[in-house]
Amino acid sequence: MEVLLRRFASTQIRNLGTVGGNIANGSPIGDGPPPLIALGAKLILRSKKGTRTLPLEEFFIAYGKQARERGEFVEKIIVPPKPENVLFKVYKISKRFDQDISAVCAAFAIELDGDKVTSARIAFGGMAATPKRAANTEKALTGKPWSEDTVRAAMDAMKEDYQPMTDMRATAAYRLQVAQNLLIRCFVESTQPETETRVYGYGG
Ligand SMILES: Cc1cc2nc3c(=O)[nH]c(=O)nc-3n(C[C@H](O)[C@H](O)[C@H](O)COP(=O)(O)OP(=O)(O)OC[C@H]3O[C@@H](n4cnc5c(N)ncnc54)[C@H](O)[C@@H]3O)c2cc1C
Repeated sequence: MEVLLRRFASTQIRNLGTVGGNIANGSPIGDGPPPLIALGAKLILRSKKGTRTLPLEEFFIAYGKQARERGEFVEKIIVPPKPENVLFKVYKISKRFDQDISAVCAAFAIELDGDKVTSARIAFGGMAATPKRAANTEKALTGKPWSEDTVRAAMDAMKEDYQPMTDMRATAAYRLQVAQNLLIRCFVESTQPETETRVYGYGG
């Protein structure tokens, strides 16, 4: 997450932009929503009628359409603390390290009991018209051993989660492949010792 924050725009933009604005603008390639969705964040929306609470993933309905009623604004973002046994990784793929919009942003929150996956929350930006959870990928991991075989099966299931688009940042085929590869990268990083390339690499 710390590395993603360094990759978020630039110092000037980070000093001005807010997390609320990054969510409320509803961008499918905003870097805030994927990690916040994976962590199970909730929004408190306020209007003169009072407040209501919404899981962040339910805020994004369609491209340019958010679950924000007339007069409502994002008052708070509640981020639950990450339990010890949750493996959490975030990756940003873009053409430049600094000041560049994501082609794909991936966030993985994998809950482990020993080597067994007890639950998984996976969210991507850049893969759909909104930031979106990978329901089939999550299902393919849950209840299974955290192993290469499981991860490869989940990478296959990811094809059912997304039909990304081609634009100037990346082709649809590239987006899907890089998204699948980020899952195995997350697995490798969690099971093999750290290397310098890994710490300072582009995707982190
Ligand atoms: C050069 C540049 C680089 C950038 N790079 C990145 C990047 O790498 N990653 C990334 O994710 N984004 C990036 N952005 C986008 C920008 O950082 C985010 O959109 C920023 O977080 C927006 O915050 P803001 O407070 O400026 O929102 P604003 O631009 O002020 O608001 C965005 C929209 O949301 C509404 N809004 C704002 N706050 C609320 C609220 N609390 N409740 C309801 N509605 C609200 C506003 O009315 C407006 O419609 C970049 C932008 C620029 C200009």
